[in-house]
Amino acid sequence: MRRLAGFTLLLAGALSAQTPETQTLEKGKLPEHFPTGGPNCLEMQEYYIHAYNPSFYILRQSGCTDYEKPFLYLIFGSDKVMLWDTGSRNSRVREAVDRLIDRWLKENKRTSIPLVVVHSHKHGDHIWGDSQFADRPDTTLVKPDLASVKAFFGFQNWPDEVRTFDLGGRPMDLVPIPGHTDDSFALYDRQTGILLTGDTVYPGRLYVSDFEAFKASIHRLAAFTADKQIAHVLGNHIEQTTTPFVDYPTGTKYQPDEHELALSAGNVVELDRALQSMKEPKTLKLRDLTISIRGPARGAGRGQ
Ligand SMILES: [Zn+2]
Ligand SMILES: [Zn+2]
Repeated sequence: MRRLAGFTLLLAGALSAQTPETQTLEKGKLPEHFPTGGPNCLEMQEYYIHAYNPSFYILRQSGCTDYEKPFLYLIFGSDKVMLWDTGSRNSRVREAVDRLIDRWLKENKRTSIPLVVVHSHKHGDHIWGDSQFADRPDTTLVKPDLASVKAFFGFQNWPDEVRTFDLGGRPMDLVPIPGHTDDSFALYDRQTGILLTGDTVYPGRLYVSDFEAFKASIHRLAAFTADKQIAHVLGNHIEQTTTPFVDYPTGTKYQPDEHELALSAGNVVELDRALQSMKEPKTLKLRDLTISIRGPARGAGRGQ
């Protein structure tokens, strides 16, 4: 009996060593579908807000305001709240974010919380609302360029370094993933196991401006996920349809059959394998996303 108990204990120990964080991930729910842009724009809010859980919010800009219809994320720690991106053209993002923060403060019986605004990367469809936060009290906006990102988060060895930024009992890991742009980074929330990947990994066309950098970044990102619990990989857009290998054309506002927002760590591994075996940069369709090669010239403009 004693031997059996010892064995059971050993087995339990081995299992917990393999999955040390199984019990600690905070749960949340994703909707089956997010609104896109229409069919009746008069019925649509500029931002659709979904509570993944009480401290993690997903905002989606309506396609009626801009076909890019990006996703934004608002994450609360006990000391700070972080906004990931400020949306694309024609939206009153500050109003939506302020309303959400006010509601959170009331529910948590608090009067204030500092806001930190960061960006997945510098493209126009993710920074358009920046000016609306310029005069917001108690707010730090990290400018959307590589030098500002490095300085604010203390990167010494970009892109071969992971930095951690604590929102107050909520450490967020920043993983540099240049290639779509030079300043792209992923954000891993240890509390929910959610990995935000911006325009670098999402169900749609992954525009690559620097192929070698992109390839190396996805390889590092796959390695980063290997020993983590990844609940969801959430990007900034959806362009894919529910039909494998098929995407909506650029500029589509109303997407009644769009792919779900979430990808998995498996998609990152699949993308890594595809890139590692690619001798020459070329456009390649995978089941849930497309690697789309663009010249370096694209990086300067308003890209996706
Ligand atoms: Zn974009
Ligand atoms: Zn982009």
